[in-house]
Amino acid sequence: MLENFIPYSTQSINDDDKQAVLDALCSTHLTQGQYVQQFEHAIATYIGTKHAISFNAATSALYAAFYALKEYIVSGTYKEEIRLQNATNFNYAMQHKTMSIITTPISFVATTNMMLANNIVPIFADIAMDGNIELHGLESLLREDTIAICSVDYAGNSVNMRAFQAFAKKHNLLWIADSSHAFGASYANEKVGTLADMSIFSFHAVKPFTTCEGGALMCNNDFFAHLASLVCSHGIIKHTAYNHDCVTLGFNFRLHEVSASLGLSQLKRLESFLAKRKEIAKFYDSYFHDNPYCSVLTIPQEVKSTYHLYPLLLHPSLFTQKADIINTLIQHNIGVQVHYKPIYNFQAYKHLQSPTLNNAEKFYHAELSIPCHQNMALHQAQVVADIIMRTLESYAKK
Ligand SMILES: *Cc1c(COP(=O)(O)O)cnc(C)c1O
Repeated sequence: MLENFIPYSTQSINDDDKQAVLDALCSTHLTQGQYVQQFEHAIATYIGTKHAISFNAATSALYAAFYALKEYIVSGTYKEEIRLQNATNFNYAMQHKTMSIITTPISFVATTNMMLANNIVPIFADIAMDGNIELHGLESLLREDTIAICSVDYAGNSVNMRAFQAFAKKHNLLWIADSSHAFGASYANEKVGTLADMSIFSFHAVKPFTTCEGGALMCNNDFFAHLASLVCSHGIIKHTAYNHDCVTLGFNFRLHEVSASLGLSQLKRLESFLAKRKEIAKFYDSYFHDNPYCSVLTIPQEVKSTYHLYPLLLHPSLFTQKADIINTLIQHNIGVQVHYKPIYNFQAYKHLQSPTLNNAEKFYHAELSIPCHQNMALHQAQVVADIIMRTLESYAKK
């Protein structure tokens, strides 16, 4: 039994973070000031993109990404890009004003909620057993109006970015990366966030680093950046200090100064967070290697993960007892969680009549996210692993 409850993921706040919050709180501007600008500059520099637009949540940033994509088509701006000028799918989407995006059902529901909020239909593709979209065989899902593919770097493990880029190019698609789990991750030494047409990060409290709530949209394309910042702040353009115009129906999705200042402080600590998560994950990797009750994800060599999640995959013989296993672990103060129920199973998605996907279903029944975060000590991970192993053993005998 652990003395205190250990969640699957949580934040780490130190004195520097507290001071950063106080500094912003006591400054002249609580919103739209220097901290937000500094934060956007800092994350753009860290990732290596031309633009970074901060948001009050990744969900808002996702909304803005799909909105910008929609505008890119409806306004005909895509014709400025030679590759897409004669793309039949883009022309079809513009003429018929219907759009679809291929994506994964194994994500937080915000990914596809924000598509639907923009009248874009998600087409669910199956995953590989690492939790990421399986690119192989996706062609059969392409429709006349499919304009993009939207990946999720499950658990903080980057998708094969060059492969996604090539797939998008081959089929005249754009690539949007919901990289909410993966700030600081890379694939073959290329940072997540640099290769997709738009990449979204989350700074929610359980994500690699936090601004309490918050998110960002990163891109190199000026049109997308412009549209995203318009949606973020009322659709207003300032001509002069007192003369402004509203050019589209935007929202107030802005990150505030206190959050941005916390983000600047947390960003300095990011590498230490990732190192801590890695230390715990590596311990689990060897602890759970080769046992009869569960397996761990197989991650390609090229992936540098953030370990936002540490998933175990239960052996099929334990699937029917998973609810009891979870309850037992929670009674032992181990905060396990399941990531994720396939999105097409949700009530709000039934009307799409998406087919059931074998790997997504299997993954959902098998997956159990166990505690792995920067606030955990290695000796706690040992206790957690021992209790989990004993629990699985006892249920396997039932
Ligand atoms: C956390 C998360 C989101 C939403 O992030 P918020 O910042 O909480 O809005 C979106 N997509 C994925 C994959 C996530 O894990």
